Amino acid sequence: MKAEILAIGTELLGATRLDTNSLELTRELAALGMEVVAKHVLPDRTADLAASIAAATARVPLVICTGGLGPTEDDRTRDAAALALGCSLLRDPVAEAWIRNFFAQRQRAMPPANLRQADRLASAEWLPNTTGTAPGQWCPTPSGWLALLPGPPREMRHVFHNALRPRLRALAPPHAFFTSVLCLASVSESDVDAVAAPLYRVCDNPETTILATGEPQIELHFRASASTLAAAQALADGLAQQVERQLIAALGDVVISHQSEPLASAVGRRLAARGQTLAVAESCTGGLLGARLTDSPGASEFFLGGVISYSNSAKVDLLGVSPELLDSDGAVSAACAEAMAEGVRRRFAADWGLAVTGIAGPSGATPSKPVGMVYIGLAAAGQPPKHLHLALHGDRDRIRRFSAQRALHELFRHLR
Ligand code: AMP
Ligand code: MG
Repeated sequence: MKAEILAIGTELLGATRLDTNSLELTRELAALGMEVVAKHVLPDRTADLAASIAAATARVPLVICTGGLGPTEDDRTRDAAALALGCSLLRDPVAEAWIRNFFAQRQRAMPPANLRQADRLASAEWLPNTTGTAPGQWCPTPSGWLALLPGPPREMRHVFHNALRPRLRALAPPHAFFTSVLCLASVSESDVDAVAAPLYRVCDNPETTILATGEPQIELHFRASASTLAAAQALADGLAQQVERQLIAALGDVVISHQSEPLASAVGRRLAARGQTLAVAESCTGGLLGARLTDSPGASEFFLGGVISYSNSAKVDLLGVSPELLDSDGAVSAACAEAMAEGVRRRFAADWGLAVTGIAGPSGATPSKPVGMVYIGLAAAGQPPKHLHLALHGDRDRIRRFSAQRALHELFRHLR
């Protein structure tokens, strides 16, 4: 069943308050097999609200409004819903008694305005609220249902769980959703799409979404629906596996996990599984690698430590890079990246040493060493060190984030 959510409150259109109710409701509706096809954030203006409610109820069988059920003049949702559905508002004596009692129990005088909260759409049932004075309402529309829920998240949640969810459950046929995820590194969204789109375009169940995260990573989400969870999972996993095989065939070892997992944590998993350790030497990333590697708890199992060897003297004194090498090749060079990796590996007696040296810009570039020139060094015990050359684009922040990510991915590939 398709649903729309209307988050009502002028404050939600300002710069300080966020509509979080619709996130919670979307999760709850998904668990019931209902699909949110649109969300709206609307101000407390009766005529506009009425038009939006009328339009939404014409589009989908389930419309849920939150907010605007308070006692004050700016709470307009009841009036707007009555206008939208062309029905009257009645002052309900049972609700009125309940609201009076709410104040009496707390030994507070009831402001007369609170009685507005006892105004019920003529054709609606109450959705009781024992956590506040604004009850919700449940009202048939020409093509489905309209629910009004209070705005404060705690009350919204309470009314949803106790009064609305049982009604929705009775409406919806049993339905389940499952989302399979492929998390990818060192590829662009368009590279991924070129391989994956021919497979997913022809298929609307699962539905496929490609997301880019800041690390940078790419995630492919395959969301399937079926009458049982097992059937939905089989559909979602089926397409995910097909796409994964094609991606690996076309782009190599780019799939880092089957969940939304940061690459550093996937590297940690592979190292821990092998019982191996890592140390890092960082120049242009200035500690970013170490930060990424220690973001997840449990890093002490594989991560021994690092050196931020920003200056040449730090590279010489702390990592044993030879001054002659720095003279001949410079600090941003393949030879230096390899020497840093091997140096830090020895220094920490680690199984692996990973190093980054490069020009993050905007200054420091020369004609032969432009901004974005980065070398990754990788050293393993008993093997000659290796390097990877990168020519990155963008500002300092982007170059540093991409350098750290590509370094981690280089190690990840060697831990197959
Ligand atoms: P109302 O029921 O419109 O009087 O809302 C009361 C309070 O609930 C507002 O001041 C907000 O702080 C909060 N609220 C209302 N709508 C939302 C929403 N969609 N998400 C999060 N908080 C909300
Ligand atoms: Mg409000």
